Order: sequence, then C-alpha cells, then structure tokens
Amino acid sequence: MSYKTIVGLEIHVELSTKTKAFCGCENKYGGEPNTRVCPVCLGMPGALPVLNKEVVEYAAMAGKAFHCTIHEKSVFERKNYFYPDLVKGYQLTQNQHALCNNGYVEIETENGPKKIGIHQIQIEEDTGKALHSDERDTLMDYNRCGVPLIEIVSDPDMSSGEEAKAFLEAIRSTLRYLDISDCKMEEGSMRCDVNINIEDLETGERSAIAEIKNLNSFRAVGRAIDFETKRQIQLMEAGEKEKKTTRRWDDVKTETVLMRVKYTENDYRFVPEGDLPPLYVSQEWLEKIFDRMPELPKKRKERFVRDFQLPDYDAQVLTSTKDLADYYEDLAGEFKDYTMLSNWVMGEVLRRVDLEEGFHVPFEAKDLADLLNLVKDGKINNNAGKKVLRAMFEEGGKPKDLVEKMGLLQMQDTSAMESFVDEVLKENPESIEQIKAGKDRVIGFLVGQVMKKSKGKANPQVVNKLLAEKIKAL
Ligand SMILES: [Zn+2]
Repeated sequence: MSYKTIVGLEIHVELSTKTKAFCGCENKYGGEPNTRVCPVCLGMPGALPVLNKEVVEYAAMAGKAFHCTIHEKSVFERKNYFYPDLVKGYQLTQNQHALCNNGYVEIETENGPKKIGIHQIQIEEDTGKALHSDERDTLMDYNRCGVPLIEIVSDPDMSSGEEAKAFLEAIRSTLRYLDISDCKMEEGSMRCDVNINIEDLETGERSAIAEIKNLNSFRAVGRAIDFETKRQIQLMEAGEKEKKTTRRWDDVKTETVLMRVKYTENDYRFVPEGDLPPLYVSQEWLEKIFDRMPELPKKRKERFVRDFQLPDYDAQVLTSTKDLADYYEDLAGEFKDYTMLSNWVMGEVLRRVDLEEGFHVPFEAKDLADLLNLVKDGKINNNAGKKVLRAMFEEGGKPKDLVEKMGLLQMQDTSAMESFVDEVLKENPESIEQIKAGKDRVIGFLVGQVMKKSKGKANPQVVNKLLAEKIKAL
C-alpha cells in the first residue's frame, strides 16, 4: 500500500522591533525578569493599546517576500483563554481578517522546485514565560508579554520531513535577510508547530491530524515528521482510528508523545478588539516600505550563478546569509577567480565561522584577496596559504607579513628543487620501480618527500613535473 504524508506548519516569529507591539516597552531578549513591563502589556484595567507602526512594516515586508496579498484593511481580535503566562486573559491577534494571505515559498526538492502555499500571515503579541525553579516553584516573567509576532500559517503542502526543513530554512533565511527577526529557535524567537496526517492513496482514507508542539530545532521537525508518518501508517494498517491529538517531540527518546486528545475544537471566542480601530495600509505607504527591502536570497542565489558562474550548490551556500553573501561579493570585486574564491570561502573560511552566530571574520575582505593572490601567483603554495589563513584567524596580521614571518615563500629557484628531487629519487629506488610498473599514485609519495625536504616551500606542481621527467629519463 502506498501513503502520502500531509504536513502543514504554523510558525511563530518574534519581530526585532525596537519596542513592543502595543506599548512603548523595550523589545529585547532575556534580562532581569519583569523589568520591561507596563500597564498596557500587563493588561491593567483601563490601559489602552497603541499599534506600533514598525510591526506593520515588518509584517508587510514578510508578506511581500512570500508573495502574499497584503490587505488594505485588517482587524485585530481578542483570542480569549486563560493561562498564567497571559495576564490579560486574551491575546491580541488577527484571525478572520489578517494582514497577509495567499502567498508561497518555493523550495528545492529531489524532484525539482516545489511551491509551498502560505495561507496567512497575521500579526500577534507574544505571551509571558513561566520559569520553573529548582525548589519546584513556578515564577512568571512578563518581559515577553506584548513582544510582536507574526504567525505564518502554511498550506498542508509538504510531504516529508525534508520538505518541512527546506521550507523552514527558506523562511528563516528570508526573514534574516529582511533583518526583521533573528529567528533563533533555541531562544524561542522562531517556533514551529507541525500538523500532520497521512492519506491512503488507494482508498483516499485519511488519519486524524496530530499537532506536534515544542519543536526546538529544524532537525527535530524533520525527525518528528518522519516518526509520526510511520506511527500513523502502522495505526492505519492495524485498522485503528485515533481522534485528533496534540503531541510533543521527545528528543531523547526520539518519538512523539501524546499530550492530550482533542475531543472538541478549541473555542477561543474571538471578538474584534474594541480598543484598536481596523488597520488600514495604503498602497503608496506599502510601496515605500518595499523600496527598502534588500535583494532576497533566492534572487541573489540566481544572480551568483549567473555573475560568478558558480554551481547551484555553491551559490546556495554563499547566499545562505546576507553577511556571507556581502562578504563574497566584496571579495569578488578584488579577486576574479570566482571558483577558487568560492572554494576557499566555503572550505577554509566557513569551517571556522559559526553562521548561526552571524558572519564574523577577524580580517578585511581585502586581506583574504591578497592571500589568494599570493597563492594564485605561485608565491606560496596551497598548503602554505591554508597555514597563513589559520594564522590570520588565530593571531591576526596581514598575509604578506605572515608569509615572511612564517618563512613560507615558495622556492622560485628550479635548480634547488631539482637537487631535492635527485636526492629523493636516490633514496627511493623501489618507488621508481613501482611507478615504472604503472603505479602512478606513488609519485604523490615522492612529491611529499621533496616537499618535506624543502620544508614545504617547493612548488608541488613544479616538483611533480620534474619527477615525471626524471623518472621517464631513467
Ligand atoms: Zn509595556
């Protein structure tokens, strides 16, 4: 029997505006609990919310980036429920009339590009946070109350954990390019719930939707979907029917765990927020916002492929964050061998940089270009170049000074190299026999021996050539 997995995601993203959504409190992560609160975000009687314009700008940019219709009129509603982290007793959100609808994100899959629909992007406020102390007390921190969120609701268009991860990656990288959220799952500024069920492709029968909460990494999202797919298939094959459930992902046991069965749909008694008028945005105002948007990752990737003749994969990696893409472009202005440049950036540079922490290198783009020019011009060999780069990361300094200090200037004198080659040939008669018998790879060993004698300063290409000539003449 064959099955289809049906996955939709609900993604909450905290916007990095200067102040909160409906009051003047500073919007910042962490800090001393309950120090960034006021009567408005604590929901004191009589306090009135005022919508932060920056929130609307950010949400509109997200809508534009994901090809949504951005409505001229949207409405804030109260979502009523009780929970200790929600002192007001309701959350301000958009429900029936959200700011953005009907967009999409294009992802790459093994079967080519695929469009994942975005049903809605709505503006909301975040809740407070419960802190569980060692003494088994629960303390409340309301600093996060009223922090602006957008909720991105996808259509149920994904059919695997891989696709869900690709979708999340596209969302995160775009929002980071727009600089409207840092999208850190571990700090909760990006959170994701998964809705998943399966369909029997022969009978059309579908399993009950499971909602999986508390996913704190892209990896967990992928694994939870894969696990849940198998679990639901097993149930269906055993003829068992489940009600809708809410589950959580247990990263240690690597399984989804039942939290509760949903016997009824939630009733949040949505009502329009009487203290806020409907939100109107004009096309003219929107155009001004859109003008400020940077080139987005997908476009930039396509341009990298075109302008720098890079393979798709390389362009994808190099444009995965805006800072990295800017850095590559700066370098490309100084150093025109784009393939060599991308190999060095993707290999030697990225292995020392944690992109999650932003792209920080302790030297200027021009310094790296200078180093690559030394390698390209044969002043130092490739390995020496790598050593210099390591020193640039660890100690700092200009490439030319480091090359001198480390004594890495490549031998330009062929006769000196020749004498090393002669010595090595003399010391390794058995290798010569092997090469003559067709074992070409042994020449690499001899090159290594010459490099050792030259303390790494010989030019391996020249050595290779000399060795081949001399062996042939023997
Ligand atoms: Zn406040």
